[in-house]
Amino acid sequence: MEKAPIGQARVTVAGNGFASLFFLMYFLESPAFCAGAGRLRRLWSPIDITLIGTGEFVYFPAIPEFLTGKRTRRDVTVDIRPFLKRRGIHFVDDQITGVENAGRAVRTATGAVYPNDALFLGTGPTFRKDAIAGTREFTYSPCYGPADMERFVDRITGLSEGVIYVGFTINREDGFVAGRTGPMFECACLLDFALRRRGVRENFEIHLFSPDRTPGEKGAITDRLVERGIILDDGYGPAAFVEGGMTDPDGRFRRADAILYSPPMTGPAFASSSGLPVTKGGHIAVDRYGQVPGLARVFAAGDCAGHETPPPWVPHQAHMAQLRAQAAAANMRAVLRGQPASQRYRHELSCILDMEDDALWMHRSEDGRPPFRNLFPRRGPRLIAVKSTLEKAFLFYLRHL
Ligand SMILES: Cc1cc2nc3c(=O)[nH]c(=O)nc-3n(C[C@H](O)[C@H](O)[C@H](O)COP(=O)(O)OP(=O)(O)OC[C@H]3O[C@@H](n4cnc5c(N)ncnc54)[C@H](O)[C@@H]3O)c2cc1C
Repeated sequence: MEKAPIGQARVTVAGNGFASLFFLMYFLESPAFCAGAGRLRRLWSPIDITLIGTGEFVYFPAIPEFLTGKRTRRDVTVDIRPFLKRRGIHFVDDQITGVENAGRAVRTATGAVYPNDALFLGTGPTFRKDAIAGTREFTYSPCYGPADMERFVDRITGLSEGVIYVGFTINREDGFVAGRTGPMFECACLLDFALRRRGVRENFEIHLFSPDRTPGEKGAITDRLVERGIILDDGYGPAAFVEGGMTDPDGRFRRADAILYSPPMTGPAFASSSGLPVTKGGHIAVDRYGQVPGLARVFAAGDCAGHETPPPWVPHQAHMAQLRAQAAAANMRAVLRGQPASQRYRHELSCILDMEDDALWMHRSEDGRPPFRNLFPRRGPRLIAVKSTLEKAFLFYLRHL
């Protein structure tokens, strides 16, 4: 096996979302660094690490809570440059536009080229905004970040009555759930709560639509939606989003005063243009060790990456990004030492669906392992405190440790 000496290795990390920051946590094998520790880190582990990204981390799981006013843009964003400085990691404010020389260099939007001995790609999802005409012009989405969700909340706040559609579409071409399902259920329920609290709920229709749900679908989530009077348009996919609503495949117009929509997800455009192996559904291909097949010392994790043999229920999640980044970090260290990759990641779905007056812990794991050894119930408003504690702990870690 071709070996790059770990001591002098140059590692490039692309992106500063969940996958990349968890990757750094596991790669450096220490969760906490005090101010000034960066120099020490480089003495004890002289790997030269460069992260290329925006410098701003977004805690997406808390964005639905903009609807109830519990969270704002400030609460969910972190300037990660101090986090990187504490670790002695170079930061480059730029965007990757290409991977060159079989992974040994990346090119950025400013035209700069950064060579490396090992590369980690964690550039997150790309949304297929052109899959349904009018998506860009006539829908809002929590998936595009705080600014878009703020615009949606402003729109709702300005209405005293109306018809609101909340929906999603999944890219299933890769055999797993490349789409935001849980967050959109959460948004529908939190919207219901916010309107009830304003005393105007009876003036509104809330519709939940998805061509990926089967009419008559049953289950705990469906029960929660029905309890809240949310109209289920299961199996429905609009032909186009248009001014004031959407059109059906038969050309019929449906009125909507606001549409919150999550398009199907895929991988980055630079993957195929750089000749990286890409899955049928457009994700960067990786094996169960997080390695990009055919390229030495190139790893990918999180929403930009596909799976080798996924169970059909596995979604793109921060939780999965963590499990995948952990394996990729251990395997990158191994291959830099000239050893083979040996750590596989588990497939697991785990998230708490916050409905403000109730919550559900959605969990499924390929080995049947329960969350936190079954310490918590699977339903009840107290789970909101668990979700909020996990969020606070991660944001505290990024801001201070
Ligand atoms: C509303 C909402 C609620 C959610 N709720 C949950 C939840 O409760 N639980 C859960 O586990 N998951 C949840 N998720 C999913 C979770 O947020 C994602 O799965 C997670 O963010 C994926 O991590 P990532 O690092 O792959 O991508 P991201 O977090 O999106 O990070 C990608 C990073 O790459 C950067 N980037 C993009 N392109 C480039 C480029 N070309 N060059 C350099 N950098 C680039 C971006 O700026 C960003 O910093 C939710 C998502 C949304 C939208």
